[in-house]
This record gives sequence, structure tokens and C-alpha cells, in this order.
Amino acid sequence: MRILIIEDEHKIANSIKQGLEQEGFAVDIAYNGLDGYDLASAEDYDLIILDLMLPGINGMDICTNLRKRENHIPIIMLTAKNETEDKVLGLNTGADDYLSKPFSFTELLARIRALLRRPNTLIPNKLECGDLKMNSQDFSVSRDGKEIILSRKEFSLLEYLLRNKNIILSKEKIIDHVWNYDSDILPNTVEVYIGYLRNKIDKPFRSKAKLIKTVRGFGYKIEDPNV
Ligand code: CA
Repeated sequence: MRILIIEDEHKIANSIKQGLEQEGFAVDIAYNGLDGYDLASAEDYDLIILDLMLPGINGMDICTNLRKRENHIPIIMLTAKNETEDKVLGLNTGADDYLSKPFSFTELLARIRALLRRPNTLIPNKLECGDLKMNSQDFSVSRDGKEIILSRKEFSLLEYLLRNKNIILSKEKIIDHVWNYDSDILPNTVEVYIGYLRNKIDKPFRSKAKLIKTVRGFGYKIEDPNV
């Protein structure tokens, strides 16, 4: 899952980014409203953390403009403590939630997970494909009852595949949702990580159906053998 942080206070933005990356999210930061709006419009994010007071365009205008353009991405608005009235305005402009500063990272993470879980986005925490099971809240993965240890990036990639089970995903789409803007992406980065995943979830289970499929010329998918 890929998140955009639009926040002009570098310290706050950087520490949120660091925390979220530890949780397996791909994260980009825009330090002003203009860059933030451009990124939000051009890239394919799963959620935006949006500061209210920003140089360039403020958070409220960014939110209003995105909604006007039928962009319904979940938005969490960050407000300073004394901006109570602005909070209400923020929600009226189409933000999904707000959090007043200072807040704990745990609180922010809980809000993010809640938003990504909303029924309208249909994002459950427990994902499965045949006998492969993933819990995106405690980071556990198992196949046929055996625990599988994945790196953070492998986990994010598998999560993205599972959330789009039986759907072919192009390399570009995978990169957009699993890697952030500044990542060093080589032409074969996705192949390499798909290879790592296969070594952990398919290869050791030789008697079982292969779950990760390559669709030549199109991309990859994880396929439920029972469907
Ligand atoms: Ca600010």
C-alpha cells in the first residue's frame, strides 16, 4: 500500500514516513501544497496524510480540488490543536478523518488501518489464496500451516497481489503501489522480488499448486487454485 504525506514540517513528515515504512508501506512526501497536489493527482496512492496549513495550496483546498475531480482516495487531515473550527471545515471538504497535533504514531497508524479497512474500500486484514494465509495486522504469513518469513518489501508485494487476487497486474501497477517515488527501480526489480516470493511461497511446497503466475507480456497474478 502506498501513502502520500503532504506536510511542510520536515521533522513530522520524515518521522511518519520512517514509521510507516517500518510497517511495510511505500511512502512519498511532499513538503508543500503544490507538490502535494501534483503528486496526489498524478500518482496512484492508497491514502493521503494531509496537513492543513501548507505553503502553496492549503490542505483544505487540496482536498476540495481532489474531490471535485472525483478522486475519492482516503484522506486523513492533520490539524494543529487550536484549529477546531478548521477541523469541521476539513471534514466538510471531504477528508475522511482528522488528527490533531501532537498525535502518537500508534494513533495515526490505527486511523490509517481503519480507513483502509472501510467497507467501501473492502480491505480486510486477513487475506488468503488457497492454503496461503496472510494477516496484515500482525505481519504473519503461512502456507499449509507452516510459517513463512518475508522481508518487508516481499510482504508488501504479496499483500498487493493478494488484495488483487486472480487479477493480472502489470509491472508498472505493481511498482506504483509497492515502491515509492524515490526508490531505485531497475527494469527487473519486480521480476527479482517475484522470484524471492516464489522461493518462499511456491518452491518449498512442491506438491501444491503454484500460486504466483507470470502472464507473459502482461504481468503477474496470484491465483486461487480452488477457483
Ligand atoms: Ca503545516
